[in-house]
Amino acid sequence: MANPGDLFFINARGVKASGVVTENGFKVFAGSYVMPTHKPYLAKSIIQHRDQCRADGTIVNDHLTRDIEFGSSSTAAYFLFGANASGPATWKNADGITMAQLDKKAEGIIPETDREYRSFYNVVGGNEGSKCHYPARLDTYGRGCGHDCNYCYAKSILSGHGYWNPIEPSVADPSRIETLVKKLPRGAIVRLGGMTDCFQPCELTYRVTLKTIEILNKYDIGYLIVTKSHHVADDEYVATMRKDLAHIQITVTTFDDALCATYEKASPPSKRIQAIEKLQGLGFDVFFRLSPYIDGYIDFNLLNRVKCDKILVEFLRVDSKIKNGLISIILITRCGRMVSCICHLTTKKK
Ligand code: SF4
Repeated sequence: MANPGDLFFINARGVKASGVVTENGFKVFAGSYVMPTHKPYLAKSIIQHRDQCRADGTIVNDHLTRDIEFGSSSTAAYFLFGANASGPATWKNADGITMAQLDKKAEGIIPETDREYRSFYNVVGGNEGSKCHYPARLDTYGRGCGHDCNYCYAKSILSGHGYWNPIEPSVADPSRIETLVKKLPRGAIVRLGGMTDCFQPCELTYRVTLKTIEILNKYDIGYLIVTKSHHVADDEYVATMRKDLAHIQITVTTFDDALCATYEKASPPSKRIQAIEKLQGLGFDVFFRLSPYIDGYIDFNLLNRVKCDKILVEFLRVDSKIKNGLISIILITRCGRMVSCICHLTTKKK
């Protein structure tokens, strides 16, 4: 909960500002940026306040020259943006947590580990989304994955924003997941684990993936599970997953347990293979997912012996951070050409 004296910041939609909660409302500090224009619908009183501040020198070159106290954080946000803006949803503390989330945490609504984790559901758009049978992804855990693979694409992106925390990932709230899932059309398929692994080690503590599977079953929504964990084949999950809804892809990058441990902290490949064969034997729709395919890391004789009807191959996506992480184990330049900052194989090489 926000208390008098707590500092908050805005860095959004072009506005950079800072301020403090006061006994009477919210004080915005000198130096904060004020949008030069305002929306026509903005309350007349706020428009007049902005005009007055420009006239008396309180706003110079679109920046406050002195502190201004407002009746609430929202009035302060309206003033700065020149548009409607929720103060509790916009002002964030130094840890990036909004006032609204602090209030919810105080009420016990959001787990302590949530830390600004709001994007648990996303629909992939554009060219990729239009070709995909499961364009929606639902991450039961976010902003970190205990498997911490050296080549992880999400890790390379989120680390750049300071959001990657493999020790204590964010945890989605099952009640919010159900609110969302009940709106999906029957027959839809969502991918569990788009940016993180839905069976990463913290699943054994929080069980959000298990609860999510129960929710998806309840609303007849299909689910594609992509994981590097053998726990998907644990009896508890096997008993919960519906064969008409579950599509499971277990990722393997090598058959060598010791080699794998040098670049993935996920289940040993030998256990993943056992999980694949167990699910295949039970009649689940299961794939051996060779992702990413790393040249020289797969023994094709062993691959041919795996008792699984389906295999899917995905190639390595490489940006400069992944390249640095992998440089000791693979010569990336064999993989293809740079497109933007991502290195893709050419179609011919695939
Ligand atoms: S399992 Fe997937 S999400 Fe987790 S670190 Fe490895 S590549 Fe990233």
